[in-house]
Amino acid sequence: MGYVVRDVVVVLALAAAAARLDSWLAWPVYWAAQGTMFWALFVLGHDCGHGSFSNNAKLNSVVGHILHSSILVPYNGWRISHRTHHQNHGHVENDESWHPLPEKLYRSLDSATRKLRFALPFPMLAYPFYLWSRSPGKSGSHFHPSSDLFQPNEKKDILTSTTCWLAMAGLLAGLTVVMGPLQILKLYAVPYWIFVMWLDFVTYLHHLFPQIPHYHLVEATEAAKPVLGKYYREPDKSGPFPFHLFGALARSMKSDHYVSDTGDIIYYQTDPKLAGGAQASD
Ligand SMILES: [Zn+2]
Repeated sequence: MGYVVRDVVVVLALAAAAARLDSWLAWPVYWAAQGTMFWALFVLGHDCGHGSFSNNAKLNSVVGHILHSSILVPYNGWRISHRTHHQNHGHVENDESWHPLPEKLYRSLDSATRKLRFALPFPMLAYPFYLWSRSPGKSGSHFHPSSDLFQPNEKKDILTSTTCWLAMAGLLAGLTVVMGPLQILKLYAVPYWIFVMWLDFVTYLHHLFPQIPHYHLVEATEAAKPVLGKYYREPDKSGPFPFHLFGALARSMKSDHYVSDTGDIIYYQTDPKLAGGAQASD
């Protein structure tokens, strides 16, 4: 719980400091810091969604709703589809987010959709659109209780989260009337989009061990090394900021476009048009 209090206090303190300074030199620093803090709120809510925040399911739900609604994420809708993602990671038909596209589906996409999915920076802005209408080739919405993402007995959960999301959207609309659109743009909207970029960046490059809270992942990685044996891949060493991951992201966006329509174990292949004329690889 201490992490929640700390992060919420930092979010509010940053907003208060930025509003007080109100200088165009300070705003970019605020946007980067606050966007990262919004991402921190998401990570704590992610722990709640996996049940790794607390052993108490009700507490996970309450804290998860507060944290995720504050950054315009429908908690239960996302939690349920995210569970599907972890249960089917890398599965062509059943994975939920960033799932590999079969070649036939990839070829059926119009060029604008391909660009939005594979040409940076567009994929890094995908999350709100994914929440509304999922990925290419899938139907339904994280906000709709009758979406085929959910079981009939989950309708109430989805209604609860969508109502919380609407309450936050209403609060932001009210604040926009009181404080003016420019102030809300600076205080909330720009950090929100930086948070979206954080989220798309991290989820595209994948994360581990969903049942373990985020603050124990370094120890978990050490414990997993002997279990994975020769299948463990040592990641590149990071500096204080993980800038090296931008290279990994750009390489993957350029070369990992679709997988074969047939076969049980299949690998990404490259569309020469999107790769700038490179030959297809297997
Ligand atoms: Zn997860």
